[in-house]
Amino acid sequence: MTESRHSEEMLGLEHSYQRLPNHLYSRLPPESVRRPQLLLLNETLAHALGWEVGRLRQHGAGWFSGNCLPADASPLALAYAGDQFGQFVPQLGDGRALMLGEVIDRRGVRQDVQLKGSGRTPYARRGDGRACLGPVLREYLLAEAMHALGVPTTRALAVVATGEPVFRERPMPGAILTRVAASHVRVGSIQYCAARQDWAGVRAWVGYTLRRHYPEQQEAASPTLALLQAVAERQAQLIARWLQVGFIHGVMNTDNMALSGQTIDYGPCAFMDRYDPATVFSSIDHWGRYAYGQQPAMAAWNLMRLAEALLPVLEEERAAEGRAGAAAVLAAFPERLQIHWLAGMRQKLGLQQPEEGDNRQIEALLQIMYDGRADYTLTFRLLAAPLQEGERGVAQWCSGFDNAEAAQQWLQGWLARIRREGGSDPQRIEAMNQVNPLYIPRNDRVEKALAAVLEEGNWQPYRQLYQVLQNPFQEQAGMQTYSAPPPPSWGDYQTFCGT
Ligand code: AMP
Ligand code: MG
Repeated sequence: MTESRHSEEMLGLEHSYQRLPNHLYSRLPPESVRRPQLLLLNETLAHALGWEVGRLRQHGAGWFSGNCLPADASPLALAYAGDQFGQFVPQLGDGRALMLGEVIDRRGVRQDVQLKGSGRTPYARRGDGRACLGPVLREYLLAEAMHALGVPTTRALAVVATGEPVFRERPMPGAILTRVAASHVRVGSIQYCAARQDWAGVRAWVGYTLRRHYPEQQEAASPTLALLQAVAERQAQLIARWLQVGFIHGVMNTDNMALSGQTIDYGPCAFMDRYDPATVFSSIDHWGRYAYGQQPAMAAWNLMRLAEALLPVLEEERAAEGRAGAAAVLAAFPERLQIHWLAGMRQKLGLQQPEEGDNRQIEALLQIMYDGRADYTLTFRLLAAPLQEGERGVAQWCSGFDNAEAAQQWLQGWLARIRREGGSDPQRIEAMNQVNPLYIPRNDRVEKALAAVLEEGNWQPYRQLYQVLQNPFQEQAGMQTYSAPPPPSWGDYQTFCGT
């Protein structure tokens, strides 16, 4: 195993984490790989980061494998802890990831640039520090699809093949993902310090996170309480967005909850087809802890762990008031999430003026969708059809349900509500189509695209799917099949953690 070298080239990287107490991270070089090859480069993202695509293409294999890092990279792995399926693990950390540094993007926002799969770190425990090409390509596809859907998320900048096998049940091709994130501070980062009674560490993370994500809260009477409140609010918004697009994260452990409010750590995540709140895809989630409909409760649970970890610092700032303040934030969370969810669902239904009974009407629809085994995404997307095409649209929408009669009855109520509200149909259709995606990463499509690459070296399906998912709200000519749910013959889908 040879250590990586540095190239002469610079990327304008900064290193704000290195001003934190140094037991919160480890600096180390990546392990070099045999034959790095740049497979994917996200040119749009590269541009947004202020980087020239040509330079990245030229140097990407070296830079994004870790074999020959940019001169101003200063790689480090972060320490963190986490509750994994409810079990506290005091020592996790970036076991196979290294942050190269941060870049200030064109909008002036600081972004972490991190290699995932770059070799073992002091936090690797029994892991090999590596990642397989399949899961790496999956994260690249899903993270960028989520971004196109307008959901806050870490991004995928590049994929490099290592030219080395990774040994799982059988040898798999190895790869490294370059991930870009608003930051990598997690609930587990705070827990790591709290578990060691390292209150200086907790304070350092609080200050760091406020500076980076919630600068307006730095002067709050209790900055720690302000942080908890701000994080809870972003999580309420994020989980509402997940629910609205039918996303199931699959492994919402506290180490996988970012304080920035971005979706992070794409492992066993997947999108729901048929509406069923109990939907679980992850092979290791036996009890449905992270099922679709459990996500609000699990986010609340994670925030409780965050509050616990912050509590001693909070009480030092505000004594008993600190504890009461934290309790109030936690108590308000379900309602905050509900408010964001309802606002988004109203949009999905094309409702512009809130009415008292909206919540009931939406819940009634969900119940009919559940009973009628309706596709989550298409039910909302096609709801505009009755406005656009009258009776034909009504028939089309109802045909998505096994219980078409109940669906039709609900639809009449909705149409009456729309008429009462008034407004122009074309405008309403347009607005609905901007929030109800036509294309999501359908599980069968994702698997087939990955299989084509891995088994035949055929990139066409993957590239096509990626392209379609870039514009999820816009109908694309000749791409009808991409909007279809998997055929019944496809069976039950299982996903695996991204190792
Ligand atoms: P995850 O389930 O992906 O959130 O990962 C949980 C923990 O396991 C994190 O600390 C990861 O860094 C670590 N980990 C996962 N896969 C590997 C691997 N192949 N080598 C080393 N550490 C890993
Ligand atoms: Mg993780």
